[in-house]
Amino acid sequence: MTRTAPTRNDALWPANDADRFVSRHNGPRADEIDAMLGTLGVASIDALIEQTVPSAILDRRASGIGAAMTETEALARLRQIAGRNVVMQSMIGQGYYGTVLPPVIQRNILENPAWYTAYTPYQPEISQGRLEALLNFQTLVCDLTGLDIANASLLDEATACAEAMALAQRNAKNKATVFFVDSDTHPQTLSVLRTRAEPLGWTIRTGDPETELDPSCVFGALLSYPGSSGAVRDFRPVIEALHEKGALVAMTCDPLALVLLEAPGALGADIAIGSMQRFGVPMGFGGPHAGFMAVRDAYKRTMPGRLVGISRDSRGAPAYRLALQTREQHIRREKATSNICTAQVLLAVISSMYAVYHGPEGLRAIAGRVNRLAAILAEGLRALAVRVETCAFFDTITVQAGESAALVLDRARKVGINLRDLGDGRIGIACDETTEPAHIKALWRCFCPDEARLAALESGLEAQNTLPVSLRRQGALLTAEVFHAHRSETDLLRYMRRLSDMDLALDRTMIPLGSCTMKLNATAEMIPVTWPEFGALHPFAPPEQTRGYHELFGILEHALCAVSGYDAVSLQPNSGAQGEYAGLLAIRAYHKARGETERDVCLIPASAHGTNPASAQMVGMRVVVVGCDSSGNVDLDDLRRKIAQHEGRIAALMLTYPSTHGVYEEAVVEICDLVHEAGGQVYLDGANMNAQVGLARPGHYGADVSHFNLHKTFCIPHGGGGPGMGPIGVKAHLAPYLPGRPEAGDAHAVSAAPFGSASILPISVAYVLMMGDDGLRQATETAILNANYVAARLEGHYPVLYRGCKGRTAHECIIDLRPLKEAAGVTVDDIAKRLIDHGFHAPTVSFPVAGTFMIEPTESEGKRELDRFCDAMIAIRSEIAAIESGAIALEASPLRHAPHTTADLTDSWDRAYDRMQGVFPGGMDRVKYFAPVNRIDNAWGDRNLVCACPETTSYAEAAE
Ligand SMILES: *Cc1c(COP(=O)(O)O)cnc(C)c1O
Repeated sequence: MTRTAPTRNDALWPANDADRFVSRHNGPRADEIDAMLGTLGVASIDALIEQTVPSAILDRRASGIGAAMTETEALARLRQIAGRNVVMQSMIGQGYYGTVLPPVIQRNILENPAWYTAYTPYQPEISQGRLEALLNFQTLVCDLTGLDIANASLLDEATACAEAMALAQRNAKNKATVFFVDSDTHPQTLSVLRTRAEPLGWTIRTGDPETELDPSCVFGALLSYPGSSGAVRDFRPVIEALHEKGALVAMTCDPLALVLLEAPGALGADIAIGSMQRFGVPMGFGGPHAGFMAVRDAYKRTMPGRLVGISRDSRGAPAYRLALQTREQHIRREKATSNICTAQVLLAVISSMYAVYHGPEGLRAIAGRVNRLAAILAEGLRALAVRVETCAFFDTITVQAGESAALVLDRARKVGINLRDLGDGRIGIACDETTEPAHIKALWRCFCPDEARLAALESGLEAQNTLPVSLRRQGALLTAEVFHAHRSETDLLRYMRRLSDMDLALDRTMIPLGSCTMKLNATAEMIPVTWPEFGALHPFAPPEQTRGYHELFGILEHALCAVSGYDAVSLQPNSGAQGEYAGLLAIRAYHKARGETERDVCLIPASAHGTNPASAQMVGMRVVVVGCDSSGNVDLDDLRRKIAQHEGRIAALMLTYPSTHGVYEEAVVEICDLVHEAGGQVYLDGANMNAQVGLARPGHYGADVSHFNLHKTFCIPHGGGGPGMGPIGVKAHLAPYLPGRPEAGDAHAVSAAPFGSASILPISVAYVLMMGDDGLRQATETAILNANYVAARLEGHYPVLYRGCKGRTAHECIIDLRPLKEAAGVTVDDIAKRLIDHGFHAPTVSFPVAGTFMIEPTESEGKRELDRFCDAMIAIRSEIAAIESGAIALEASPLRHAPHTTADLTDSWDRAYDRMQGVFPGGMDRVKYFAPVNRIDNAWGDRNLVCACPETTSYAEAAE
């Protein structure tokens, strides 16, 4: 049965109001809204919005998205879309492989809100579970690569290679500007490398590393191990020659191949990168997957991405937290090593659990079987007189089919198998964990449909070891206990549960992180993500198999254009920061096409998010900071001054709107005009679209390009620090410069896959369908109401910084804690940790202003939860008052001892405050959340850096 669009105004048929999603998504009930408006002293939501959003930009007209669907209707619609995708056995390879996600991990991590609704672990005391899983990930990567230190994680393999190139350039001992890339590298990787190198003035040279590389003229080289063709080569001599000339060597490798192959570190590589996709993460038409990077110890301080390390808490117990460059972009701005912020935490966790589930023996069995199937495939093809080009290989072979290539590809497709068409009669075939003997036999038949020869074939075959003797891995793998201790499903289930119980995610409390928009990630939105029709598609599958995806993209692109006022959208960027990068590249290309190559200045207000200057630097722009005035707005005089100073050189202004101070600047139209008059383009950081959807359209009030954080405004869960999606919208004049297809070598590609992390886009589509025009606007209005309500409740206790001209904040508010530091010595951290005792995740700390909290409740919280939060903040204020009055010393106060743990509950008690007050500040609660560790000493961990699980020698010996 096909469904028709809902007809809401039909007088005859009753509407299904119980299934109306908007009232599930938005937290406050009607009576709560009335009470909150009463607190604010405004008559209606409309009146509040008029006091909040400047009239110059307020535009409440419908966007043309249409009426809302119910959850049932939206899921049926997505079913229909999914049904237009065709799931085939994709043996294309090229960086993406079939894999089996163990059901226990699928349900208990990928489909479990305790994992997927968590935030990036900046508050380590409430993030010990995911930090432990990430430490396991880093350990896995270090073991596989044979290098000292690994991060967790990067966006995909291609961007990891680009980061490796930048790291090589920073650390090379020569002044060369050429980066050599093995010609046997995935084409999408090469595209992304070219994109990254060009604005920075580096040249990419490709060739055969063994014969065409002159080590004396490069700062580094990327070697593919195995190559895109499947070939496994011994690069030891090449690496040695490069090192002699002071160049760095990065190897991009396949983690499953590394189970059997000698580690890059052992071969001499300085950097190893790749994708952990085939460790249990569905191909998902390109993502999301965790990219990885491991480096020698010497480079740990310039490694991009997040690094988990072990430190200790105030009781001396071991505890995990992010090490070294935790919030690097915010501190180092345009000097940051990269702009990477949101990464791929959830996928890194899944991959690490895949390794925990299988252990080294299981991984060896999988890798061994894949290798053997590929070997048998090759043997059989040779016996059938097919020219197999690849001799030493792990799982992928390249064959020369000559004139019959098209026929072979077609026959394979008819039996449900996709192969890689390399052109010139060459075909690539990759085996993987899901390959069965039947697939191999079917492929033989595609090459040689001669029953008699096929019948005789198998008896004569003998699988050879196709890995070169010099490159077979020696020694033990994964000797840490965690990879041995949870092998039964019962044990693994409990291990994962134990870890998630240590963490606070949205399934337990509001997470009022300003600028991060931790709103509801509805279950109905999440359900399609694990449908095979979305999960099992290869990103380079032929278009007739991916019609459903293209329909999905069409809906999303239309909705994003409709709410933003832009003309075109690219779904390629895998994060907000990557969207910034793609948007700035478009601006750069636009100027260049007009012959205005001298435009290289990027104006950035002082309050900007750290990714803004970091992204500007990556496209070779010079960052010029524009000051802000005392009410948090861009200082127009300073803007005019900077524009005049850099006349003729202004490339762009990066503006966050509403500002990171949580205000709708009245002057935004004027600001855009000033930049345009100076010949520049306006990049509007759309991280705060949650304050604009349905009320204002950047493309209409003057912006040229924005990214949309789908993991903020459009309901993709944060996953503990990723995945995310940062599509960009542009006005028509920038459309020609949107990212091209990476696999085709098009210009400006920024991700390995043409549509980034395609498989999480159904989440945003479901959200848009279920909200409709009215619902989306109501969400924004409710977000604004909630923020203003929190500001109103807290303002008698904490000063609220920055408001619009009519006294209202946008969808978030900043409270100033600096006076408390001065008066009582209480730090933002003390208050953040004390909130944990009340069961809350702290708001954003010290951004954009040091010593403040930025609170963004989002529309999904109801009044009761907002009140609970405000009550906690007010209770904390009275504890601070006790310090101010001298009733208790700061060091002896519950604030300094926060968070309180079960150790505090059970140890002897000699504190200056009551134990009940310390442990149960919100009153007795039988299911209270307890942080598993006391306050963590960050600095100690950085001085004593440990970023992997300890080895357990007994497992090492047992494995020998
Ligand atoms: C979140 C955010 C970003 C970066 O987005 P990521 O997806 O984390 O890369 C950029 N700017 C602002 C204002 C943000 O809040």
